[in-house]
Amino acid sequence: MAQVLLEHVWKIYEGKVEAVKDANFTVEDKEFVVLLGPSGCGKTTTLRMIAGLEEITKGTIKIDNRIVNDVEPKDRDIAFVFQNYALYPHMTVYENMAFGLKLRKVPKDEIEKRVREAARILEIEHLLDRKPRQLSGGQRQRVAVGRAIVRNPKVFLFDEPLSNLDAKLRVQMRAELKKLHMRLEATIVYVTHDQVEAMTMADKIVIMKDGVIQQIGSPYEVYNRPANIFVAGFIGSPSMNFLNGKIIRGEGGLWVKTSGLKLKVPAEYEDKLANYIDKDIVFGIRPENIYDKMFAIAPKPENTAEVTVDVVEPLGSETLLHVVAGDDRLVARVNAKSQAKEGQKIDLVFDMTTMNIFDKDTEKELL
Ligand code: ATP
Repeated sequence: MAQVLLEHVWKIYEGKVEAVKDANFTVEDKEFVVLLGPSGCGKTTTLRMIAGLEEITKGTIKIDNRIVNDVEPKDRDIAFVFQNYALYPHMTVYENMAFGLKLRKVPKDEIEKRVREAARILEIEHLLDRKPRQLSGGQRQRVAVGRAIVRNPKVFLFDEPLSNLDAKLRVQMRAELKKLHMRLEATIVYVTHDQVEAMTMADKIVIMKDGVIQQIGSPYEVYNRPANIFVAGFIGSPSMNFLNGKIIRGEGGLWVKTSGLKLKVPAEYEDKLANYIDKDIVFGIRPENIYDKMFAIAPKPENTAEVTVDVVEPLGSETLLHVVAGDDRLVARVNAKSQAKEGQKIDLVFDMTTMNIFDKDTEKELL
């Protein structure tokens, strides 16, 4: 069992910088939890407090039900993989991986067994005699992970471990870390600012902004039911469209009205929006939920709007249309076979079942 629990955890640097404000979350045994957010949101500080590398200003951190606030990092049974790998340049790969175990006075044959097993899992057996400078970025990354694996810790902590790798290698290592997680059945807390990494690897995502947790949920939940405008805009690429508008009563029920669009609210959402009639809201819709009418299934007048195409960006597998309607500007990710041309008026179909409606003032999601 390896569970990590944060209760009302605060970090205030030098009595004034509130880096983490009242963090509460649980990392369950064998769970892969990603702390996600923009630079400066407090995710690294949170990870370092779990590791014991940073003192907790207020609150409690428990590992396996034991309060660890005052426990030294080396006694917490955790392994930390840093962004820069922190390998010892004068040691071989083998020695780097064995070093922590030697310090802990693990018998030599046991060290040998664990290093070889980790090297086998990570496919770096042929590199054990090399020095770090003789390795590629991806190989160094693997050695850093190997050093953590041999410790067989309760919890693995990763701080942006893929950020120094090129894009292709990052995609590959992402899949490998995911496989490793399943194979080791490890409890992992992983920090990144890359929403794709978070979406692809996490069982659970903790999204932070300005030291405050914005939402905790599965990738599916944070993508489809973001708690507020910040989360909705941070997850997904290209970003969700946000348009100022109102909910109005009209023919057959409620409608979303913005400067350039008038679209029907699906019946299942009407109850939730009943108190928002004629009030200011923000209408959110993802680019992939807007279709070129030529390729839409069963378009209806109530979910279709005429727009003017501003820019066409063909990506090969799909096409991005930047369009204008009244004062609204939005992006649609449409079928690559779309014939839409710049300057042309076209009909777009909106999948309104996927929409989000946010309170204009609180920016919270209402559905
Ligand atoms: P990044 O992705 O850039 O590493 P982050 O989300 O991990 O960002 P933190 O490194 O946790 O953010 O920093 C959170 C806040 O705390 C920032 O405003 C940062 O400037 C501040 N901070 C971090 N370390 C210290 C420190 N030692 N002293 C004072 N302020 C600090």
